Amino acid sequence: MIIQRVVLNSRPGKNGVPVAENFRLEESTIADTVQAGQVCVKTLYLSVDPYMCCRMNEDTGSDYLRPWQLAEVADGGGIGVVEESKYDNLAKGDFVTSFTWPWQTVAVLDGSLLQKLVPQLVNGRLSYFLGAAGITGLTALLGIREKGHVAAGANQTMVVSGAAGACGSLAGQIGRLEGCSRVVGIAGTDEKCSVLVQEMGFDAAINYKKGDVAKQLRELCPGGVDVYFDNVGGDISDTVISQMNQNSHIILCGQISQYNKDVPYPPPLPPDIEKIRQEKNITRERFLVLNYMDKQEASVLQLCQWIQEGKLKVRETVVEGLANIGAAFQSMMNGGNIGKQIVSVSK
Ligand code: NAP
Repeated sequence: MIIQRVVLNSRPGKNGVPVAENFRLEESTIADTVQAGQVCVKTLYLSVDPYMCCRMNEDTGSDYLRPWQLAEVADGGGIGVVEESKYDNLAKGDFVTSFTWPWQTVAVLDGSLLQKLVPQLVNGRLSYFLGAAGITGLTALLGIREKGHVAAGANQTMVVSGAAGACGSLAGQIGRLEGCSRVVGIAGTDEKCSVLVQEMGFDAAINYKKGDVAKQLRELCPGGVDVYFDNVGGDISDTVISQMNQNSHIILCGQISQYNKDVPYPPPLPPDIEKIRQEKNITRERFLVLNYMDKQEASVLQLCQWIQEGKLKVRETVVEGLANIGAAFQSMMNGGNIGKQIVSVSK
């Protein structure tokens, strides 16, 4: 069978910025036969995520990330529909997902590696299983629950960086649902800030590309910062940490501003900021959602319930066509999306 697939065309190199041309669309052939235990799936949605930046280089800089190989098909979070099954627990027409879905139109996969999806849980919005009801939502929820020390009634102020992105937009809302009394986002455009406040219930948002972030933060968080959901690292995080309260908590979700730099993960703080962190006893523990998969099922149900109740507002930026996945990835790394960036493959 002839299929289309996207392979790694070139590596950005250490300190290099990934571009669409690092990927290449090509035709390929796969065997038509489905063996016992396998299923043939048609790809519907693929996820592009910042961590993929690390997989583009031979040295991923991480002990849990495998590098993509040149001229080989890329993979990541994906959703598809079963077209033929020789695996007992899946039937034609079932919707399934995997963290290691190949970037190709049709694939033959081991049934045991797929998770079956129930579209009704997300009001039929299947792609949400890659975002708000998938690894992104889990990252926001479990990051807050495991590292945030949020307590209802404790009058805590949460600040979220990368706030209009996939994780950040959910994290602010979940911080509120879990009990924070004030939530302030930091994002890169006025439009993003407006969406955060008007649609997602943030109390305020700061455009970090305009004006004095430290001054605005002082005005918007008069009682200081108790919980910081950090997606970006770098200067923004140094500014927030300088205004954090005694015994407060950083949720070290990601450091996207540092991913193209040859630094260890998590990147050490500059000495003056590390001194503040230590003096104020601010926690900054590494958080990796994959370490909490025993909580996946219950947490996904919680996220789906909030989505159904309208308590969690979800934004997606959907790009049509496998051919455009490289451009979608580049756009995401440049902060082009609001909410989760998805590539729709079916059309
Ligand atoms: P995303 O949707 O691309 O959002 C990231 C946001 O960060 C963008 O909205 C972007 O917009 C902002 N940004 C990008 N570069 C920036 C820079 N240099 N300085 C400041 N802001 C910048 O990504 P996501 O899926 O939400 O992921 C967010 C973070 O979570 C990433 O660091 C990712 O690796 C991490 N993550 C961690 C785990 C875990 O288990 N710990 C799991 C999933 C994801 P603006 O610049 O316009 O604001």
